[in-house]
Amino acid sequence: MRPHERITYRITIDIAKCNGCNNCTTACPVNAELEQRKDLDTGEDARVIAIKNGVAVVINPFRCDGCGTCMIVCPEDCIDITFIPLTEYEDTIKEKSKT
Ligand code: SF4
Ligand code: SF4
Repeated sequence: MRPHERITYRITIDIAKCNGCNNCTTACPVNAELEQRKDLDTGEDARVIAIKNGVAVVINPFRCDGCGTCMIVCPEDCIDITFIPLTEYEDTIKEKSKT
């Protein structure tokens, strides 16, 4: 199991309220740690959140560490972070693996 798969937070962004200011993506410490914006294994975008089509979207939710920085810097109050009990999280993964 890779480290980010242990994380039990779910970040959601209300894109209807998002103004695309980029505050969250630039303030996210996980994004900042990623010197290369591509996953070295897959070549895909490795950031937690990014601006796509003018609004912030969650790209890699399992990389989020739940620090809350993005919520603090968001001027539109459109980011929410929910704690997911590990058992529920694991059940979700199992359900996804069936599909
Ligand atoms: S909670 Fe922290 S790690 Fe997760 S997206 Fe927001 S700033 Fe990044
Ligand atoms: S900080 Fe808030 S308003 Fe700005 S891009 Fe992120 S989610 Fe959208």
